[in-house]
Amino acid sequence: MNIILLGPPGAGKGTQAAYLAKKLKLAHVATGDLFRKVAKERTPLSETLRSYMEKGLLVPDEITIRMLLQRIAEPDAAGGVIFDGFPRTNTQARALDEALVRENKKIDKVINFEVSRKELITRLSARCTCSQCQAPYHIITSPPKVAGICDRCGAPLLQRADDAPETVKKRLEVYFTETAPLIDYYKAQGKLVSVNGEGTVADVEKRIASVLNIKK
Ligand code: AMP
Repeated sequence: MNIILLGPPGAGKGTQAAYLAKKLKLAHVATGDLFRKVAKERTPLSETLRSYMEKGLLVPDEITIRMLLQRIAEPDAAGGVIFDGFPRTNTQARALDEALVRENKKIDKVINFEVSRKELITRLSARCTCSQCQAPYHIITSPPKVAGICDRCGAPLLQRADDAPETVKKRLEVYFTETAPLIDYYKAQGKLVSVNGEGTVADVEKRIASVLNIKK
């Protein structure tokens, strides 16, 4: 089974992807996490990645598609993938479809998260992420047990540099111009299901479980 989680930054894709990957025993592939890991290194590719991410811009398709295809060729992805943050452009969506066809695979469902712009901005400004394992927290709705420390791995929590207000604005603009058109792309394939992404994490989990017919 291959599932895409589509939605703007702050919609809760990462949180729900982790839940679904565990529940359905699928690999959680998040291009943002992949890029953040590589961006910490000191190579020309890392510098290129940082230069786009810091500005809230999309990493060019050619780099993104190459890294994504390498990642899904790893053994843990053989049984299926939850795609989190990929695809984000029409070219990426087509490249993924073509790569899956070559392997006799396909995208089964695309879950489109619907969250108001106001709510996205509130969430992103209160979001912090583990510097090591990338687990997401929210200062108000899902704080860590010990302030500033990850419950899962004990590493310090950080606010992502690209969650700064100006960059958030840019990322949302990029989402609505470059990524939102994918809603129609997957609707035309009969794969899109929209889910209200507002409310608590448990509320959204229930809605997703219901559209995917998963027992809680
Ligand atoms: P995310 O963690 O998904 O919000 O991604 C963080 C940043 O990584 C984005 O703002 C982009 O700069 C880059 N990025 C992640 N996924 C993609 C993608 N599929 N295409 C292009 N850039 C991406």
